[in-house]
Amino acid sequence: WLFKETQINGVNKVALRIRPLASKETKDNAATYVKLALVITDPNDCQDVLRQDRLREKTYDFDIVFSELDGQAEVFEGTTKNLVDDVLEGFNTTVFAYGATGAGKTYTMLGTHENPGVIPLTLEHLFSQIAISSTRALTAATTTGKKSTGILSGKNYKVTLSYLEIYNENIRDLLSDRPEYLELWEDKIQGSVVAGIERVEAKTAEDVLEWLGKGNLNRTQEATSANEVSSRSHAVLQVFVARRTCNKTGQYVEQNGKLSMIDLAGSERAADTKNRGMRMIEGASINRSLLALGNCINALTEETGKYVNYRDSKLTRLLKAK
Ligand code: ADP
Ligand code: MG
Repeated sequence: WLFKETQINGVNKVALRIRPLASKETKDNAATYVKLALVITDPNDCQDVLRQDRLREKTYDFDIVFSELDGQAEVFEGTTKNLVDDVLEGFNTTVFAYGATGAGKTYTMLGTHENPGVIPLTLEHLFSQIAISSTRALTAATTTGKKSTGILSGKNYKVTLSYLEIYNENIRDLLSDRPEYLELWEDKIQGSVVAGIERVEAKTAEDVLEWLGKGNLNRTQEATSANEVSSRSHAVLQVFVARRTCNKTGQYVEQNGKLSMIDLAGSERAADTKNRGMRMIEGASINRSLLALGNCINALTEETGKYVNYRDSKLTRLLKAK
């Protein structure tokens, strides 16, 4: 599994998650599924390992690697946990899962009821951080005997969210019953704005999951099975955190943080060139957005100040900060 985490203002981190073989895969000859032999080396470990077929190897760098033994909590703690404070302070961050269909993107992002994934764990952490800061603000207010100024208060946070799907370069609001496609605008103050999209308020992580469940029922019903549906479109959850603080002169200042969490379309869809008709259009759109995303990430990682071309796909335009 590839799991990418990027902070659009610069820092990019890439984590790799290896999932356990499914029971069907172990029952049949596992070798037919594992076409790719994975050799993970630690750059700090200079020991040279003798490997067959070394010339045919490709090398990729990861910031962190999770094995099949690592659970959802380990993945959360090693990746998105430390993004929450940034979002609360008004930064834009983006997390996405990249990989072929069946690789475990949805399991990693959403998880199951018993094993909640990165989205529920991150949101729980976000709401608990808000609760902690509001208790702190209350204590500070009572000890000083006056209304807290310049200190975070739970009341001063507002969390709203939107949930959309990008299918064939069209944006659809998953929280609305209206079927029309939405336009993307660039606003000087707010950055990318999806015109007319539903934004609902959430007070707990459970609220968010409930909205996600509702939204998933609205995903493009092109194919027969659920996994087929999700493999053809990108699902984008955006959590907006508005924080109002009081500055020294008693004026309210608002800071807006945004956390985008994305379950990308199956990467194999982009590579399939044998498709015709509808499948070909789907493949071309997925290819376009994954390519544009890759280009943006490369430009962001290579050097500061390098031109980043967000314009090539709806997905990258959506993620562009102001
Ligand atoms: P994708 O969204 O990338 O198409 P899924 O998340 O649906 O893939 O995963 C495919 C199957 O593998 C699902 O049945 C899922 O529950 C299972 N699975 C994925 N990752 C794990 C894991 N780390 N542990 C246990 N089961 C997993
Ligand atoms: Mg999926």
